[in-house]
Amino acid sequence: MSEAKSAERSRDILRVLTVACGRSVDQLLEQVADGHADELDSHQADCVHCQAALSELNSLWSPVVEFAKQPVQAPPGLVDNVMDRIYALAQDVWYTLQLSDIGAVKIAARVVGRLARDTARTVPGVRAALGRTSQGRIVQLVEAATRRHRHPHAAVGVLGRTAVVDIAVAVRYGEDVHEVAAEVQQRVIARLRHDVGLQLVNVNVTVDDVVI
Ligand SMILES: [Zn+2]
Repeated sequence: MSEAKSAERSRDILRVLTVACGRSVDQLLEQVADGHADELDSHQADCVHCQAALSELNSLWSPVVEFAKQPVQAPPGLVDNVMDRIYALAQDVWYTLQLSDIGAVKIAARVVGRLARDTARTVPGVRAALGRTSQGRIVQLVEAATRRHRHPHAAVGVLGRTAVVDIAVAVRYGEDVHEVAAEVQQRVIARLRHDVGLQLVNVNVTVDDVVI
């Protein structure tokens, strides 16, 4: 089977897969393959699932881009191989996935979110850390409700070894708010890389409140 044909076959398979928000993996891959991974539409600008998928797909797709730039032929099966990996990742978009010779490690997005929030709370000056921001009391209700579900609120997007995490924090009155937020980002990124084995972590911090 030719490279083009087998790529076409793989894309047929990808077409049925979606990330957690419902966007098709195939469409996201097309965006990446066209070199537009950084150009987020209005949904993607707010969507941690799309953002995580675009980053992960972009890094998986990069060898294909590299070979396309060179005069040499890509090794046979390269595109197929990348497609197979993408397919494996997209099988369960609520889990991270790390594949190795000795097996697969999957970690639930829920766990990633929990670790992120717990880590945020260890930052001096942080009084509360919740999932995705919203207004005032509502966010606490959402948080409490979603804890019971198998899937967390939309605050964590994962694909493969990439995660995008939204955290809303309340900061103690009188603290340097920006400094506290930056420290939250750094600690959460370090923790998720170390404890979850993620490679690419983006942490968006929203300071929703100051507490006296
Ligand atoms: Zn999305």
